[in-house]
Amino acid sequence: MEALVASGRIRPFAAPSNAGSRTRSFVRVQDGCDNGCAYCIVPLVRGGDRSVHADRVISEVAGKASRGYNEVVLTGTEIGGYHSNGIELGRLLERLLAENRRPPPAPVLSSAAGGQSGLLEPWRDGRLCRHFHLSLQSGSDSVLERMGRRYSAGDHQRAVSQIREAVPGAAITTDVIVGFPGETESEFAESYDFSGEWVSAGSTSSSTRPAPVPGPPPCPAR
Ligand code: SF4
Repeated sequence: MEALVASGRIRPFAAPSNAGSRTRSFVRVQDGCDNGCAYCIVPLVRGGDRSVHADRVISEVAGKASRGYNEVVLTGTEIGGYHSNGIELGRLLERLLAENRRPPPAPVLSSAAGGQSGLLEPWRDGRLCRHFHLSLQSGSDSVLERMGRRYSAGDHQRAVSQIREAVPGAAITTDVIVGFPGETESEFAESYDFSGEWVSAGSTSSSTRPAPVPGPPPCPAR
């Protein structure tokens, strides 16, 4: 074996090590939630909504940059609800961008973030990742109400339009729950149609089929 290595015909195997090799790091800026959606256990297990002081977030991100990380992902249970001493998420991002030349923070935002004024302005700085996650959960307003969500399908669509206008080419992802207890066939159809419009309006990828597949939903009506 030593002879083969010495001849250069094979190279010795080195087990991958995480130490010093990662380029992405995570900084939790918010935890918990006060919303109490009907299907969610998060408020029970993570407690109420609370945010990390902006100064601490900025110094943590600066520390990551000095240790060589090229990307920082800001995380939170309900990150759109970030607020600390009058600073909301948009302002936090502005400060991070102004006070750290690198790395670029890359927050993934939830639906509540859509309503904050000025939230999208920091995306004029190309260092922010152009990815937004807005949980839809249902395209039926009556189901959303029973779920305890605080927006309508129309609100969601408006938030998506705002993002598309302010951050062209942004990736927008979502979650949809089907079969929520009590969901009727017509509510399912409403949600199905809404989701189809949503994907059709947004998809520019030739590798996806943006329109819903024709035919009935795969599960039998209850
Ligand atoms: S907003 Fe999100 S985390 Fe909070 S209760 Fe609803 S689903 Fe759970």
